Amino acid sequence: MTKANSTLEILLPLALRHGYDYLPPPDILMPIRGQIVEVPLGRRREWGVVWGQGQGDVDPAKLKTIHAIADLPVLPVPLCQFIDWVADYTLAPRGMVLKMVFGTKAHLRTKKARKVFSAPRLKPDHITPTLNSAQQKATDALLALQRQQKFTVSLLDGVTGSGKTEVYMEAIAETLRRGEQALVLFPEIAMTTALVERFTARFGAKPILWHSDIGAAERYAAWHQILSGEASLIIGARSALFLPMPKLGLIVVDEEHEASYKQDESVTYHARDMAIVRAHLQKCQIILASATPSLETMINCQNGKYNHLQLPFRFGTATLPEIKLLDLRDKKMRATEFLSPELRANLIKTHAVGQQAMLFLNRRGYAPLTLCRHCGHRMRCQSCNSWLTLHQSKNKFLCHHCGYHEPAVTTCPACKQEGYMAASGPGVERLCEEVQSFMPAARLAMMTSDSMASPKAAKDLLEKMTAGDIDILIGTQMMAKGFHFPNLAFVGVVDADFALGGGDPRAAERMFQLLQQVSGRAGRAHIEGSVAIQTCQPQHKVMQALAKGDRDMFYAAELEERKQYRLPPFARLAALILSGADEVAVEKAARKIIAKAPKIEGLEILGPAPAPLSFRRGLHRWRILVISEKPLSSILQNWLSACPRPRQIDLHIDIDPYSFY
Ligand code: ADP
Ligand code: ZN
Repeated sequence: MTKANSTLEILLPLALRHGYDYLPPPDILMPIRGQIVEVPLGRRREWGVVWGQGQGDVDPAKLKTIHAIADLPVLPVPLCQFIDWVADYTLAPRGMVLKMVFGTKAHLRTKKARKVFSAPRLKPDHITPTLNSAQQKATDALLALQRQQKFTVSLLDGVTGSGKTEVYMEAIAETLRRGEQALVLFPEIAMTTALVERFTARFGAKPILWHSDIGAAERYAAWHQILSGEASLIIGARSALFLPMPKLGLIVVDEEHEASYKQDESVTYHARDMAIVRAHLQKCQIILASATPSLETMINCQNGKYNHLQLPFRFGTATLPEIKLLDLRDKKMRATEFLSPELRANLIKTHAVGQQAMLFLNRRGYAPLTLCRHCGHRMRCQSCNSWLTLHQSKNKFLCHHCGYHEPAVTTCPACKQEGYMAASGPGVERLCEEVQSFMPAARLAMMTSDSMASPKAAKDLLEKMTAGDIDILIGTQMMAKGFHFPNLAFVGVVDADFALGGGDPRAAERMFQLLQQVSGRAGRAHIEGSVAIQTCQPQHKVMQALAKGDRDMFYAAELEERKQYRLPPFARLAALILSGADEVAVEKAARKIIAKAPKIEGLEILGPAPAPLSFRRGLHRWRILVISEKPLSSILQNWLSACPRPRQIDLHIDIDPYSFY
C-alpha cells in the first residue's frame, strides 16, 4: 500500500488550476519537478509534467500510476516557476499556461518515434559590422551587462533606422560565445522572414523560427532542438516566450511598444511584460528595443529601474523625414474623396521622379459603412452591434468583430430598391480607387492583414516593394511595423483623427507611436523622406509633437495626464467582461460581482455597464473596470472565488487590458 505523501502532482495541459495526483511508476527513480510524463486520464493518455508532491487527498484505491517517463530533458526550473508566475498573475488555469509550453502535443510522441535533430551552429563572429559611435557606446553598455550574468533590463531607444538591430545582434553574439541561448521576439510574423535573412547573414547559419504558421515537421524539430539546448538563437512571435530553453541567456523584445504583444484570448498575457518576468526568473539580461517606447517602459527608465541607451540619429547619411500637417477643416472636398489637393500633388511629384510613396489609413476594406439612400437602412452584423465593412476585392460585407460575411448587394435588403446602396467613409480599397483615378499609370498595392495573411503572400509583397515593382503602397497599421524600403520617399497619412478620444487610455500614445512609425518608413536610405498628415485636429498634442519632431514633449505631457487621472503606468487596470446569450442574466451576474467587491483603500471600481461593444458573436457583454495602485491579481482571485456564476455566463478576466471595446 502506497502512502499518500509519496504521490506526485502532475500538471496537465488542460484548463485546470492544479494538477492531479498520480503514483510514481514502480522500479524507476522518483521523477523530479519538470519531468515530462505520460499518465492515464479517463480512457485516454495525456502528457503532463511533474509539478511537485501530490495533494494526498485522493482515495488510494482510485490512484492511478504514471504510465511512462518521456525520454526528454526535464523542463528547466525557471520555466516551471514562470508557468506558476504567469498563471497567478493572469488568473489563467496553470494547465493552460503549460499548454503554451507544449505548443502542440505532437511534440511529445513516444520515445521510439522521437528522432534526433541537430541544429546548425551559429558563428558569433561570422560577419561583424563596423558600428558608428552611438552604436558602439550602446553595444559596450549591453556587453558589459551581458557579462554580469544577472537580471537587467535595458531600453534600446533609437530613432527609426538608427541601427538598433545591429546593436542587439552584438549582445546576441556575446550570448552565443558563452554557449547560451538567445530569444528575439517580434510583434509581427510578416517581419520574421526578412529578419531571418539578416540574422543568417550576420551569424553564418539560420536561427530557429517560431510562430503559428510554422509547419508541423519544422515545429517538431525546432521544439526538440530548443529543449535539448542545441538551438542557440530563436526568433519568433509572442508565443515563442513559452519555449523550453534550458540555457536562456538573453531576451530581446523588438518594437516593445507594439500592442500586438498583448494576447486577448485564452491566457491574456502581455508578452513584453511576461518576458521581463521570465528574464528575472532566469537571472538574465533583457533588451527592449523601440523608436517609440511605451510609457510603461519610459517611466521605468526615468525611475532608474531600466538602463536607457539611446541612438539619436539614423545610421549613415539618412536623415529623419520632415513631417507636415495638412489641416482638413478649411478644405472643400467631396464626400466621396479623401485625398486633399496637397496630398495628391505630393503623390504625383514623388511618382514623377521615380520614387515610392505610401498612403496610410487604418481601415481595411472599401468602406466602413454601407447604407441605403432610399430608406436609410444600414448594413449591420446579425451577431454583433457593429456595421459591416464592404470588402470589394472579396465582393462581400464582412464583420471585423466576428468574421461573419455575406455577399455584397446592390439591392437594399430592407426596401428592395435597386441602386441606392451607398458606401460611406474610406477604407484602403477605396483609396486605391481614388489614387488610380488621378494616377492611372501608377502601380498600386495594398498592405493589410488581408494581403499579408500568409507568410508567402507577405514575402511576395515585400519583395515587390523592394524591387520597385510597386509605386504606391496603400495600407493599414501593418505598414508601421519596422519594414525597410530603401526607395520610399513620401508617406501620406489620410486620416489621423480616428483613434483619438474613446475609452482607451492609451489612444493618444498609440496614435503617436503609429504615426511616428509610419513616418519612419520614409527616407531610410539615400533619398530624403517627407511626410504629410491630414488632420482635423492640428492643435492636438500628438499632431504638434509629430510636426515639431518633439517626442519628449509628448511623453512628458502624456505622463502628466496619466498621473493626474490615475491611469497606467501609474495605476493598474483589470477588465472583467461578462458575456452570455441572456442579457438580463449577464447584468445580474455583473451586479452580483459588484455586490461582493472588497473594500480596499485605493481600489476603484467602474461599472458594471454594457461594454462599448455590448453585443458580440451573439452574446451580450457587460464590463467592470477595476483600478488600483497595488497588483490586482490576488485581490481579484479572492474576490471572484467568492462569486459563483451560472454556467451560461462567461467571465473573461483581462489583467492590464489593452483593448477597451
Ligand atoms: P532600426 O532597427 O533602428 O530601425 P536597422 O538596424 O534596421 O535600424 O538599420 C537600418 C539600416 O541601416 C539597415 O539597412 C541596416 O542594415 C543599416 N545599418 C545599421 N547599422 C549598420 C552598421 N553598423 N553597418 C552597416 N549597416 C548598418
Ligand atoms: Zn459580427
